[in-house]
Amino acid sequence: MSKKDFYEILGISKGATAEEIKKAYRKKAIEFHPDKNPGNPTAEENFKLAAEAYEVLSDPNKKAKYDQYGHQAFDGAGGFGGGHGHMNMDDIFSQFGDIFGSAFGGGFGGNSGGQRRVKGSNLRIKVKLTLEEIANGVEKKVKVKRKIQAPGVRYKTCSTCNGQGQVLRVTNTILGRMQSATTCNVCGGSGQTIDSKPNNADAYGMILEDETVSIKIPAGVVDGMQLKVSSKGNDAPGNGIPGDLIVAIEEQEHEFLKREGENLHYDLYISFAEAVLGVSKDIDAINGKVRIKLEEGIQSGKILRLKGKGIPSLNSYGNGDLLVHVNVWTPKSLSKEQRQFFEKSLTDDNFIPHPEKSDKSFFEKVKDMFS
Ligand SMILES: [Zn+2]
Repeated sequence: MSKKDFYEILGISKGATAEEIKKAYRKKAIEFHPDKNPGNPTAEENFKLAAEAYEVLSDPNKKAKYDQYGHQAFDGAGGFGGGHGHMNMDDIFSQFGDIFGSAFGGGFGGNSGGQRRVKGSNLRIKVKLTLEEIANGVEKKVKVKRKIQAPGVRYKTCSTCNGQGQVLRVTNTILGRMQSATTCNVCGGSGQTIDSKPNNADAYGMILEDETVSIKIPAGVVDGMQLKVSSKGNDAPGNGIPGDLIVAIEEQEHEFLKREGENLHYDLYISFAEAVLGVSKDIDAINGKVRIKLEEGIQSGKILRLKGKGIPSLNSYGNGDLLVHVNVWTPKSLSKEQRQFFEKSLTDDNFIPHPEKSDKSFFEKVKDMFS
C-alpha cells in the first residue's frame, strides 16, 4: 500500500527541527479539527494522518527508523499500528490534546465550556401483562420509590470547580504544559454543593418518595422488551435532570392460547363423532369467544386460520391470526357394542384412509403457514 510521506503530510522538509514539526502539526490539526469540520470525512482523514505523522516524527527513535526505512519501518511487527490502521480520535485527543492549547478552549469531547448537567440514575421495574393486555394495549399504574430533592434543600455553586463540574489539571510534559479535565470530586460533576438541607435528606439533599407512575403500554409488546418512561427515574441533586424509569415487559402464560410472534395458536379437541358429523364450536379467542363451524368429515390435524384474531403488530398495521389446530379425540375405552362396531369398520372401505391432495399432512400445512 502506498502511503503518503509523513513530512509531506505535515508540509515540512526532512531537516525540520522538533519545534518545526510540532508547529506544523498544530497548524494541520487546527485546520482539520473535527470541531471545525463537522461531518467532513476528508478533514477527519487528514486530521488522523497528521496525528499519525506527528506520532512518529515527534519521537526521536521512531523518526530515526522512519528516516532510514520509510513506512516499512513500521509494517508488521509492533510499530505504529503496524503501519496500517489509523489512530482513533480518542487516542489522538488523549495523546495530543494539549497541543491545541487555547485554540479550542482546551475542552474536547463535545463538552466545550458550558456546565454539565448531571443525570439522575435510572430505575428499573418489571410489569407482568396478560395476553389480553398485550393484545389490546394497557395503561398500568405502578408504585416506584424515587429519589427526589428534599423540600427545603438549598444548593450553592461548588467553590472547588466554580460550578463547572470539572477541574483542570496542568502537568508539565515533554510537549509542554498539558491540560486535562477531570470530574470535580467535591460536587461529583454537578457543579453544585449543599447549602442547607433538612435532617431527613441524604448527603446530596435527596429523600425517597413513593410515586405512582402511569405507564402507557402499546399493544403488541413482547416478553423481555424494555420501555422507557422519561424523567421518572431518580432525580439528580442541584439543577441536574432526572433519570428514566425502565420498564421490562413480562408476558404471563395464557390458559388456552400460545403466542408465536403476532399469531396465536389454539388446540381444539373434538370427538370422533363430531369429526364425522361436523360441528360448531366456540373458541376462546383473545377478546371473547368466536364460533367456528367444522365441516363433516374434517380430518384430525387440520389447521383453521382466523384472520386478524391474533396480536396486533407493534411496528406496523394489522393483526396476526388465530390458528385453530383440530385434534380428534380417540376414545380410550369402548363398550362391547362399540368394539363390535369398530371391528366391523376395519374392513369397511369408508373407514380406510384415502388421503387426497387436499388432505395435506400436518407438516406440509405447517410449512405453508410460515411461507
Ligand atoms: Zn465541583
